[in-house]
Order: sequence, then C-alpha cells, then structure tokens
Amino acid sequence: MATENTHAIRQLPKLKSLLKKYRQLKNKQSSLLQLSELSSSITDLDAFYQGLESVIKTLLATDSFNIALLTPSNELQFTYCHNPVEKRLHEDLDVAKGRKSLTGLVLESQAPIHCSAKERMALAKADKIVLYGSVWTDWLGVPLKRGEQVIGVISLQSYDKKRYFSEENCQILEFIAEHLVTAIDRVRSRELLESSIQQRTIKLTQTNQELQREIVERQLAVKTHQVLLNISELTTKSQAISELYQALHDEINKLLPAKNFYIALLSENKSQLEFPYYCDEKFTQPATRKLSSGLSEMVIRKGKPILLSDSIMYTLAAEGEVTQCDFSSPSPDFALTQAWLAAPLSNQGEIFGVIAIQHYQDKNAYHSKDLELMRFVSHHIAIEILRQKTQQQARKNHEVLEERVNKRTQELQATNLNLRMQIEERRKAEARLYHDAHHDALTQLPNRSMFSERLTYAIRHLKRHPSHRFAVLFIDLDRFKMINDTLGHHAGDQFLIEIARRLGYCVRDNDTLARLGGDEFVVLLDSLQAREDIEEIASRIITSIAQPFELEGHTLYSNASMGIAQSRVGYKDASEILRDADAAMYEAKSLGRGRYVFFEDSMREKIIASMTLEQELRQAIQSKQFELHYQQILDLTSTKTIGFEVLLRWQHPTKGLLTPSEFLFMAEETGMILDIEIWVIEQVCLQLKRWQQSKEYEHTYIGVNLSGRHLIQANQLAKLMALISANTVEPERLILEFNESAFARHTELALKGLKSLKEFGVKLALDDYGAGLSSLNFLHNYPFEFIKLDRSFIHALNYNDKNLSLIKALHELGTKFGYQLVAEGIESEVMFKKLQTVGCQFGQGYYINRPGKIVGNNAETDTENENESYLDTNSNAVAIIQA
Ligand code: C2E
Ligand code: MG
Ligand code: MG
Repeated sequence: MATENTHAIRQLPKLKSLLKKYRQLKNKQSSLLQLSELSSSITDLDAFYQGLESVIKTLLATDSFNIALLTPSNELQFTYCHNPVEKRLHEDLDVAKGRKSLTGLVLESQAPIHCSAKERMALAKADKIVLYGSVWTDWLGVPLKRGEQVIGVISLQSYDKKRYFSEENCQILEFIAEHLVTAIDRVRSRELLESSIQQRTIKLTQTNQELQREIVERQLAVKTHQVLLNISELTTKSQAISELYQALHDEINKLLPAKNFYIALLSENKSQLEFPYYCDEKFTQPATRKLSSGLSEMVIRKGKPILLSDSIMYTLAAEGEVTQCDFSSPSPDFALTQAWLAAPLSNQGEIFGVIAIQHYQDKNAYHSKDLELMRFVSHHIAIEILRQKTQQQARKNHEVLEERVNKRTQELQATNLNLRMQIEERRKAEARLYHDAHHDALTQLPNRSMFSERLTYAIRHLKRHPSHRFAVLFIDLDRFKMINDTLGHHAGDQFLIEIARRLGYCVRDNDTLARLGGDEFVVLLDSLQAREDIEEIASRIITSIAQPFELEGHTLYSNASMGIAQSRVGYKDASEILRDADAAMYEAKSLGRGRYVFFEDSMREKIIASMTLEQELRQAIQSKQFELHYQQILDLTSTKTIGFEVLLRWQHPTKGLLTPSEFLFMAEETGMILDIEIWVIEQVCLQLKRWQQSKEYEHTYIGVNLSGRHLIQANQLAKLMALISANTVEPERLILEFNESAFARHTELALKGLKSLKEFGVKLALDDYGAGLSSLNFLHNYPFEFIKLDRSFIHALNYNDKNLSLIKALHELGTKFGYQLVAEGIESEVMFKKLQTVGCQFGQGYYINRPGKIVGNNAETDTENENESYLDTNSNAVAIIQA
C-alpha cells in the first residue's frame, strides 16, 4: 500500500505536469475553436482583430502583434497593431520603408520568418531591413495567404527577455493566419457585397430619378403638345374673337400660372395699343392708349420673348427702358408684379402685338425655359388671331359682297323691271309713234305719210300689172277756214271729224281715205274697173258733204271740191299723182264749188302760174317793186281828214300795177308778207316824219294793214316795235289794222300780241268787220280803238236801211266799249249821209277819195278811178279836204 502510495506520490508531479499540459492543450483547443468560430461568424474586422488579441495572448503568450495587408494598389499597409510597448502606429511609417522591413521580407518570401533581436540587427546591417520601432526580444511573422496569393503578413513581437517563439508558435500563427485570411475575405466579400449593393442602389436611384424626370418632362411635353393642339384646334371652331381669347387663356393656364393674362394689339396705324383681352386679379381692362414706353412696347421693340422679375423691372425703370407698366395704374408700380413673362405676336416678322402673363406672388413663377414655351404659344396665338382676323375680314368681305350682290341684284331686278317696262313702254310708244306717224291725230285717218306709202305701192303694182287701175281723189272743203276762224278750233275740229266720218261711209273697204292736213282729204280708190266707179264714189262724197252740219248750235253747210287723178303708167312717184289731183281740185274750186274735176294736163299750167307768181313776188321784194297808195279817212261830221290808210300796190314789170287781191294770198301763204310789211312800216314812218317836219298833216294818223302773222310769229312783234321806235315816230300816229282772220288761229297768242302793241302806244283797228262772222267778242274783249265796217256791209246802205240800225247800235256800243266806227267803201252821197245820221264817226271810200300815191307831201289818186271821186280828183284830194 505504502509502495503504492509512494508510487503515487512519485507520480504526482508528473501527473500535475500532465494535467497542466492537458489544461494548456484544452485552453489551446478552446482558443482555436474560438478563433475558428470568430473567423466564420465575424462581420466586422475590427471586432475580429480585438477577438484575435485574446486568442493570441492565450495561444502565443504575447499581446503584441501587427497585421499588414496589401492595398489594391499593391502597397503594404498596417491595418492593425496591438502593441502595449510600441504605441506608435505602423501606419505612420513611410510606405516605402514598409517593404524594407521584416514584414516586407515575409511578404516577399511568402514564408514565415522567425527573427531574434540579434538576427534583426544583422539584417539591418545587411541593409535588408530598416530599423524602426522599439527593440523586441523575438519576432515571428507568417504570410497571410489566399491560395498562392499573399495578401498580407501577421507578425508577433516578444518583449519578454525569456520569451522566444517556438516552431509550434509558428504553426499556431499560421493557423491564425489562415483564419485571419478567411475572416478578411469574409468581411471583405461582405463589404464588397454591401458596396456593390450600395452602388447598385445609387445607380438605381439615379436611374429612377432620371426616369422620374423624364416622365415629368414627357408629361409636360404631352401636356404642352395637347395645349398647343387645343390652341390650334380653337380656330377650326367658329367662335367670336372674345371667346377665342378666353379659350386661349384657359389653355395657357394649363401650362403656366397665368391667372393674369392679357393680349395687346397694335392699332392699324401702329400708333396705339389696344387690349382686346385683359384678365387680371388686380386691374380692370385698360383703355386703348398711345404707344409709350411700357413693358409691352419693349417686347414689341425687342421682338422676342422676355422674362422679367421685379428686380429687373426696377432696373429697367431706373435705366429708363420702361417708364410705365401695362396696368391701369398710371404710374409704374412694379412692386405688385413679381414675375412677368411676355412674347411678341408676329406675322411674317412684323410684330403686331404682345401676349403677357404675370404673377403677383411668386417671383419664381416663370423660368427661362418658359420663354420658349411662351414663344410657341405666342406663335400659335398669333396664327389664330391672324386667322380669326382673316376669317373676320373674309366674313366681313363676304357680308359686304353679299350685301353688294343683294343690292346689285335688287338694282338689277329694279333696272330689269324698269327696262322691261321701258321696253314695253317703248314698244307701245313705237306702236303709238308708228300709228301717230301714219295717222292723223284728229280724225285717226291715215296721214300723208301712210297715204304716200299706199300710193307708192299702187304705182309699183301698176308697173307690174299695167291693166291695174286706181285713182286719187283730192278733196277740199268749203267754209272750213271760215268755220275755224269764226267758231274756233274746236268747232273746226268737230267739223273735220264729221267730214272724216262721212267720207268713211262713202269709200269701199279696200280704198284708202287719208287726211293730208287742214281740210285736205284724199282717197286712193284701188282696183277700179271703170271711170264710172270713180264718178259714183265722187258723187256720193259730194252729196254726203253737202248735207248740213250741226256744230255748236249752228247749222252749217259745206261743199266738197274734188280733183281726180287716174292711174297712168307715166307716174314715177306718189307726189306726182297727188300734185295732179291737187291741180284738178283747184280747177274744181275755180269752176265753182261742190264738183269734181278729172285732171287734165292743162291744169298743170295753172299750178305753174302760181309758182311763177311766187317767184316773181320774191323778186319784187328784192327789187322793191312795191308802192303805197294812201286813202283819206274823214271825220264824217266835220269832213276833216283824220288820217290815211295805206294800201299796197305791186308795180309788176310786165303786168303793170297789181292790187293786193292779185298777189297778197301768195305773200300770205309763203310768209313773204312779213318782209313786205316791214318795208311798208318803214315807208309809213318816213312819211309821218316828213309830215311832222313840214308841219303838214302833223296830227294825222296812218292806218297800216298788217298780217296776223306779226302777232303770232316769234320775235316778229318785237322787231316791229323796234322798227317803229328806231324811226322815232310817235307810235300813236299809227293805226295797225288786223282783220278777223288774224285771230282765227292762236287766238290767245294773237290777243296777247295785240295787247303788247296797245301798251307800246300804237292805235289798233279791226278791219272788215261785218264780212265774216263778226263776233261781238271783238268789240269788248279786244283793245281796238277803231272798228272798220266792211265795204260789203256798207254797200247795202245803197238799197235798204237794214244795216243802218245795226251801225247805229254798234256806234252806241262803241261809246261803251271805247271804240269808234270807220265805214269803208263809201261810194255815194247816200251812204255818206246815212252814215252821218247814225253817228258813224269816220269813213273812207271812193266817194271821198280814191287811194293814191303821195307826191311830195300829198296823195296822188289812182288815175283809173278818178271820175268816181266826189271831190275834185284833178287836184290833190288831201289838200282839198284840208282846205
Ligand atoms: P281794206 O283794208 O279793207 O282796204 C280797203 C280796200 O277797199 C282797198 O282795196 C281799197 O282800194 C278799196 N276801196 C276803198 N274805197 C272803196 C270804195 O269806195 N269802193 C270799192 N269798191 N273799193 C274801195 P285794195 O287796195 O285792193 O286792198 C284790198 C285789201 O287788201 C285791203 O282791204 C287790205 O285788206 C288788203 N291790203 C292792202 N294793202 C295791204 C297791206 O299792206 N297789207 C295787208 N296785209 N293787206 C293789205
Ligand atoms: Mg284796211
Ligand atoms: Mg277793209
């Protein structure tokens, strides 16, 4: 037992050593396990390094160790130093020197290095290493290997003089190095993962942000595009311009904060700015104003979009660029506006307005990028405004055109209607004119023109058909002139109408009855068989016309004198046959009225005689072949000469002295009478002057017979009065004598002329009263001072006193109406006496004195009638009476 115990006691230190070893091994094992766990679970290298401290202390009995790692740029960097002795950080070492160290040698050799202090010194001496840090006892370094690649070095230092590292220590350090590489790789890969995740995240974030921005931009672009599209679509809608502006504003509002928006347009003459649209939260719509130096004007001037902040506006105002803002406020008050964005409206480079938006709250409401947008918008708005304007103008033009077209159409319609009416009227007028031109207005019978046409046709027909027979009847009516002169035109017209009616009954249907004028009627008897046919119709006409006429209460009788010309191959035209019928008619008249005469060639001679007379009469006027014979007019009571009547005579070169009845009709008919009588007046005036100068017959009158033409023919009366005035003769010395025929036509005019003569101062006498109808009208309505009783009327006094009482009555009426009687044709003492008894004041006649020429101042009586004078005709009658 004791032995056993002794053995045991002997065994005890061994056991104790074993136990100690065991315990050491266990510690080692647990430290190695701890290291292994640490390296597989570590996330943070610093924590690993700290864990490593206790492991190294446990396993290697030192607490000084360094870890150096190669950087990606292959530099050696001390990443961890645990050295209670050496406080200095290895990082502070020159990097270049880092490699020239024991650590560098391990890295280079890629194998562990165990180095004592002595060996270290030797190495330093050999310039293999550089000495740095404090002096240690022993040093052990092993490479950190990842496969074949050395990534760093872990090294131990011992400052304990007794502590040297063993081979086992080296193995342990290698083991630690392996785990350290694992830990580093773990951490590194984790860090790498994290960094790559982070980078990826950043990239994704950036991408996301870019995408977001792009989305926003795209959305904005889409919105802008939509707005611009909307703006351009606005034009397709026909709407009022104000609605368009409002719509444009709404659209701009979608893109920019444009609560305050206005459109300013230049006036036509570019001198004014008008604001057709103005929407503002502070100001009301401004009135049109003259161009000045406002913000809008600045945009117009610059011709490009402008963005202004309040500060810039102040600067511009200070520089004098603008003096006025575009708001109602008369003074520039930019304080209100924080931001202002405007763009010009232009048409082919010509600025015609501005659009502007403004913000009163946010000075950053608009950005420079909005300038472009504004430019786009303004461009579109300009197009729309122009299009609207063009449309408006076009509409206006269209309306104006339409109105003009309507007006013109109406005018044309009116003109058309008018024209149609005019055409219709003209057609009627033409028909009327044709009718008028071919018919007599009074009787509605064909006139001369139409008759001539028919006659011409008949003559032509005769040329083709010589057996054809026709005849022309030329009818002249008795008493028409007398009816016209005495009963007046109306009665004359009625007479002619009745004649036409009666003639119409007498002719056949195919005959042509026409009125040539006055009382001349003609008949074309066509398709005649025999002369008897003509005679029958002619007789019928004469019988018909001979029937009494009832005219205005009068029963009148007339007769037709008729000339007949029969068709002959020799007639060239209508005038020839008419001329012959006319000549035959004159023959009928001269043979005694109420008969018909067939034309014979001899009758033409008479016509020729008439033409000759006319010719000679003209010649007589030119060569002054006339002379005047004076017949005394006596005061029947005192038998004193009160005056003379001048009577015209024609000293015909071959026929001798002709009295008025032989030529006066021709002078009257042709109007030559006027020239003749102007000569008569001149002669009479000369005679009066001569008497005035000689004081002989100073106060006597001269009676001059005048044609009625003086009263009615234009200017004739004035000429006459001027002539009398020019001869400085007292007008009252002249007695102008007119007979009833002077007043038969143009009664009013003739009476007016008569009154003018009376006013002029001449005396007026009505000649031949009692020969015609002798209307009483002449006695009181006409301004006659003398009524001359016609010779025929006086002549009857020779046989009875029927007319004497009439003369008496006329005389008495004369005292009332202011005229005096002059008896003509006193041929006997009986007449003379009878006239004296009834108070007839004045008289003339062969019994007193025959008309005679004045010789010197005296009248020389017509020689052939000398014996018939009751006075001594050998002596000067005037002188005798005066005596
Ligand atoms: P009368 O004016 O009635 O003139 C009177 C006419 O009677 C004159 O005829 C005169 O010679 C004529 N006579 C005078 N006393 C008697 C008489 O006792 N017995 C007869 N049997 N006859 C007498 P005369 O000169 O042949 O003139 C005829 C007419 O011619 C005038 O009628 C007058 O009407 C017109 N006459 C004469 N001279 C002119 C004239 O210059 N111009 C115009 N227009 N007519 C004139
Ligand atoms: Mg007379
Ligand atoms: Mg007479």
